[in-house]
Amino acid sequence: MSVEILDKAIRRVPDFPKPGILFYDITGVFVNPEAFRYCIDKMAELYENSGIDAIAGIESRGFLLAAPLAERLGLPLVLIRKKGKLPGETYSCKYALEYGTAEIEVHKSDIQPGKKYLVVDDLIATGGTFAAAKSLVEAGGAEVFEFFGIIGLPELNYEKALAPVKVTTLINYNGK
Ligand code: AMP
Repeated sequence: MSVEILDKAIRRVPDFPKPGILFYDITGVFVNPEAFRYCIDKMAELYENSGIDAIAGIESRGFLLAAPLAERLGLPLVLIRKKGKLPGETYSCKYALEYGTAEIEVHKSDIQPGKKYLVVDDLIATGGTFAAAKSLVEAGGAEVFEFFGIIGLPELNYEKALAPVKVTTLINYNGK
């Protein structure tokens, strides 16, 4: 199976959620079992013998990718959620998005010191969300092994923003 199946399943929506943003909609991946399986198979191949200890998914589209991967690899799944959703004690970080600002949190008890986390989201734009996720993982004394997104927008310079941690994507698009 080739990456074309993934490319065809991703819808481009101009000027969403605001003018000037080209939104890459991955709902088409989830309604297409072949495209969804392509993603999870690729992720499993990449990380099955990588030495990661756990997978952290970013709410909410990141959960849909992190959860099947964690189940397949038999690894713990940590939920990085939007502010105000987690009932326990949390680490929290505010950050700037490609459009707007946000705040994410994780349960302190879910981050194990010394462990290596793969952080998963659907799309990487500026890298701001991943940088915030990294600060949560590090607040718990753990380390980010790698960042993974289905889609990368390299023109927004996420690699520079996230260096020296490696960033892996399945498909990249140019322009916003
Ligand atoms: P960033 O923090 O700038 O890397 O933005 C990544 C987060 O924002 C991810 O959770 C994406 O789902 C969302 N996002 C940012 N830009 C886009 C875009 N052009 N299309 C779809 N989702 C986006």
